[in-house]
Amino acid sequence: MAIQPIRLFGDPILATPAVAVDSFDKEIRQLVADLTDTMLDAPGAGLAAPQIGVSLRVFTWSIDEEVGHLINPVLSLGEEKQDGDEGCLSIPGLVYNCKRAFRVIADGFTMHGEPVRLVGEELLARIFQHETDHLNGILFVDRLDKEIRKQALHDIKESEWFGLKAPEIRLSPHSTHGFGN
Ligand code: ZN
Repeated sequence: MAIQPIRLFGDPILATPAVAVDSFDKEIRQLVADLTDTMLDAPGAGLAAPQIGVSLRVFTWSIDEEVGHLINPVLSLGEEKQDGDEGCLSIPGLVYNCKRAFRVIADGFTMHGEPVRLVGEELLARIFQHETDHLNGILFVDRLDKEIRKQALHDIKESEWFGLKAPEIRLSPHSTHGFGN
């Protein structure tokens, strides 16, 4: 198990759709362990494999001291929407209101290849949507209302980490206030 460097906004892997997992082997279990360790260390509420440089459809989540993972997720979004603050470990220190579905059914697999269905509301539903977006090469700033998105892109360009290419640079001074995922 090892904590991995987190890729930052601007890294092409974050804009690249990830590939489905087709063999549930030791490497996948190692990936889930690395994602979990890195997420808990950050700390963040969720982490997707592309954020640590692995273009596979795997994410982890952490809420109320419960930790889990999901592989090859397929989401069914409820009609009802929620507002709420959202952040991203790949966009350190910045948090914006992001409209999301209030309830999500997430179908996928465990690291042992067993089918699993997770049902999430509020924050957990938000995490499932945010992390599945990562697997499709979508960042939460792409989901913001137009004016907020403009502000976010401005803030990103003003951030001290923006343009730093070396993935091993850690950004510990920035707190994510518990919203980082
Ligand atoms: Zn994120």
